Amino acid sequence: MIRAFLFDMDGVIFDSMPIHAKAWVDAFASVGLTFTEYQVYLQEGSTGASTVNQVFMSQKGRAATQDEIDHIYGVKCKIFESYGRDWPMRSMDKVLEYLKGKGYTIGIVTGSGQKSLFNKLNHYYPDIFKTEYMVTAYDVTKGKPDPEPYLKGLEKCGVNASEAIVIENAPMGISAAKAAGIYTIAINTGILENACLKDAGADLVFDTVEDLLKHLRSSF
Ligand code: CA
Repeated sequence: MIRAFLFDMDGVIFDSMPIHAKAWVDAFASVGLTFTEYQVYLQEGSTGASTVNQVFMSQKGRAATQDEIDHIYGVKCKIFESYGRDWPMRSMDKVLEYLKGKGYTIGIVTGSGQKSLFNKLNHYYPDIFKTEYMVTAYDVTKGKPDPEPYLKGLEKCGVNASEAIVIENAPMGISAAKAAGIYTIAINTGILENACLKDAGADLVFDTVEDLLKHLRSSF
């Protein structure tokens, strides 16, 4: 029996990936390196440091220094913040209200370490989330695609893997959820092909949040 839904945040709860993508592309361009929006979506969920290292390895043949990581990630964050705010994902309020109304526990499992994350969530989606059901960058030592964030999410929500469903949008997040043994529904809110999400292990892939809502209403 399903008792909890664990939601990823960027690209699921917030329509923030286009801004993250633009910020990464511009930050790398500012130091003469090429990183495409498509690549941002492929590695979504990695830490800032591992993203910078990956680009250095492929284009400079060496890992980045800590200074280089701090500089590029700093520029990326500055550009991201200059956009001012995250936008709620269209129709996600209906999904969350539906599941809440049915009595499911609603958790968040994100690699984000933004301060005042809960306030932001509560501002756009009032009375949906509880801090005790949230896993952020501060709760884990290994990020997605490691299963640790989702295992922690199960623990915080007090459910087994077979009692939860994950809602994800990114290959590495899907891999993390599947490695934790959880049934995973993907919504393709970005620019990758559905096959990328299927290949990562998604049990179901929907093109829109509206399609997800239709499925949830008929099944739960
Ligand atoms: Ca995501």
